[in-house]
Amino acid sequence: MSQALSSLTTIRVGGTPAGIHVANSRDELVSIAKTVWAKTDNWLVLGGGSNVVIADDVSDLEVILVRNLGVEHLGQGLVRVQAGENWSDFVIHACKNGWGGVESLAGIPGTVGAAPIQNIGAYQQELSLTFKQLEFLDFETGELEILSKEDCNFGYRESIFKQGKKGIVTWVEFRFFVDLPAGSTALMQSRAEEVLALRASKGMVLNESDHDTWSCGSFFTNPIVSESFARTLPLDAPQWPTVEDDGKTVKLSAAWLIEQAGVRKGFSLPRSHAAISSKHALAITNRGTATANEVAELARYVQLQVSNKFGITLVPEPNLIGF
Ligand SMILES: Cc1cc2nc3c(=O)[nH]c(=O)nc-3n(C[C@H](O)[C@H](O)[C@H](O)COP(=O)(O)OP(=O)(O)OC[C@H]3O[C@@H](n4cnc5c(N)ncnc54)[C@H](O)[C@@H]3O)c2cc1C
Repeated sequence: MSQALSSLTTIRVGGTPAGIHVANSRDELVSIAKTVWAKTDNWLVLGGGSNVVIADDVSDLEVILVRNLGVEHLGQGLVRVQAGENWSDFVIHACKNGWGGVESLAGIPGTVGAAPIQNIGAYQQELSLTFKQLEFLDFETGELEILSKEDCNFGYRESIFKQGKKGIVTWVEFRFFVDLPAGSTALMQSRAEEVLALRASKGMVLNESDHDTWSCGSFFTNPIVSESFARTLPLDAPQWPTVEDDGKTVKLSAAWLIEQAGVRKGFSLPRSHAAISSKHALAITNRGTATANEVAELARYVQLQVSNKFGITLVPEPNLIGF
């Protein structure tokens, strides 16, 4: 099967690959991966397509589409979820069952299998809080292995996978907080609803009819800089202490840096169909017919403005494929 990858990504850019191979079960995922890997090194594993910008020409690329489903409750808060399950639906399911620790991650698009790749996080919660282990098909060895939380080396939008370990997550296991006081399930559900409303106001919940949500979410990570460098910034620059490095580093707001560098919400380059979201300075959006090149041009422009003004190079959060 083949079709333009723009139809399988939330920012809706990406050309037509050589092939798209759909895996509907964990065993199919393993066997498809082995067949594709025997043929080429130019492959991509794709879940919900909400954290990738795929180039306009990817005619040599083989795509493995993860669609294996299933949620198994193994007892005592231990839950195994197949990689193709929808993350946000799973959060709602977890809240209904009183499984605590993911409620603030409601509304993040994409699949469960992709969630460990950048250790998804929002509103002071991260996947790593409830993550127990995952099954991984390693590209280098061709073997299946179980990776623990320590093995995954999670950090802020960071993991061993972002550091270069290549392969495919087939399922993820969570250890949820279950012995919670009475009323916790209702509290979790209302927290999830509160987060969904907040995210919707920023264009951070997918909505077919709203171009502000045709994005990859945040396009840049919040930069982490030394405390001494942060002191050179204006006093009103938002800063948060980081857990790592004994407080010697601080996290800055990429959205604030972008706006202060003169790139306003809604901004676009002349004749481009890519624009900064009208609701959030950190999201690059497709206004309908943008190409991957237009998205990349706008991203480079934003990086240049921030670098000229503050001497900080913003790092893209989505995975750039085929550029
Ligand atoms: C509107 C919007 C809001 C967002 N908000 C947030 C947020 O608040 N916090 C946050 O952290 N992220 C956010 N994101 C980013 C994105 O939703 C997450 O990174 C999500 O986990 C990506 O899942 P996906 O299935 O769409 O991954 P894809 O985009 O399909 O893939 C992303 C990367 O993971 C790899 N991958 C996918 N599946 C697998 C697998 N099974 N095994 C191995 N590798 C795999 C891909 O090759 C690619 O490198 C947002 C995105 C959008 C569009």
